Amino acid sequence: NFRRSRRASALNLSEIAHVSDAAEALRAAGKPVLTFGTGEPDFPTPVHVIEAAHQAALRGDTTYTSTQGTPALRQAVADQAGFETDPAEVLISTGAKQVLSNALLATVDPGDEVIVPAPYWTSYSDIIDFCEATLVSVPCPASSGFLLTPEALEMAITDKTRWLMLNSPGNPSGVMYSADQLRALADVLRRYPHVWILADEIYQHIAYVPFTSFRNAAPDLADRTLIVNGVSKAYAMTGWRIGWGIGPVPLIKAMTAIQGQSTSGACSVAQAASVAALTGPQDHLETRSTEFRARRDLVVQGLNAIDGLICPEPSGAFYVFPSCSGVFGQVTPQGKTIETDADYCSYLLDEALVALVPGRAFGLPGYFRLSYAYSKAELREGLRRIAAATAELK
Ligand code: PLP
Repeated sequence: NFRRSRRASALNLSEIAHVSDAAEALRAAGKPVLTFGTGEPDFPTPVHVIEAAHQAALRGDTTYTSTQGTPALRQAVADQAGFETDPAEVLISTGAKQVLSNALLATVDPGDEVIVPAPYWTSYSDIIDFCEATLVSVPCPASSGFLLTPEALEMAITDKTRWLMLNSPGNPSGVMYSADQLRALADVLRRYPHVWILADEIYQHIAYVPFTSFRNAAPDLADRTLIVNGVSKAYAMTGWRIGWGIGPVPLIKAMTAIQGQSTSGACSVAQAASVAALTGPQDHLETRSTEFRARRDLVVQGLNAIDGLICPEPSGAFYVFPSCSGVFGQVTPQGKTIETDADYCSYLLDEALVALVPGRAFGLPGYFRLSYAYSKAELREGLRRIAAATAELK
């Protein structure tokens, strides 16, 4: 007689989780599956960060912290933000993901609309559903560089719009908005003072062209902008679960109140570790970006050499989002016609033992996502398998 709430029923097991489960089942059956599905750096957390966590635990930083986050971490976040802010404008949460859900839980009611350019990170749509708001997805295909145009933004705005969610560098497309492109969006937003901006900048440090924060492109909109960031991607700290939001004090207070009744605040030891990450040596950021860029080049070149695939060159993050519509209508050796991105990905999983996520999971069918946060050897082998299996299609 178990019954799920309406809210829980709205949540689908994410397509990324489906792909991981299917890959895991094949692996358990002894098949050498290569998974390019997940979005976490394959580097270890820097040693000095681990050491800081150890010392914090020994020192007794093992109790509840302030719900909003420790003063030391909020100060460190404010100091490295790259724009004028202070610790009162900072909320520390259990990962950037909790910042997103805090923000929506604190601000949206049923019927409120959230504009999200597609392709978008799958969790955006799930969090919006969970918060009982309405996702307004604006398709931004490869032909427009995966960029939201000012015209498309203006068309999507209604009097029910609460937020625009903008992700740069973007997951899954790797798109990055230049300062001018952000300013052009801000010009539209200035005409609609009821629309708030959530700028998810978690991939800030994995960038191959100069990065501009929305806060710097449109400082006059700071009183309705929430910047989201965290240590997961830049410092290879996905498991430590520390992210933050920087925004106007009334919003931060409302989000803190929500957080107070869900987690009471982020992990004390992980917060101490994050202070060390933000204030310690930063040279690894450059080295890792260089390594990711080399992998990006390898993958973009390899995929573009395959008939039927077109892979735009991303400017940041560690994903490529190639189009596979060129293979639609072709038939597998088993006699099945490939009609969708999901068909192609499931064919590659079965035939090539390569796990990828279909574009429809990110709100833009006809593409797939490959994460290149894997070793060059794995990427080369994956590309070889994808090429061989795709060549079998007739
Ligand atoms: N935002 C985007 C665009 C992401 O891709 C991810 C993780 O994949 C997150 C936020 C969540 O990061 P965190 O680990 O800090 O919750």
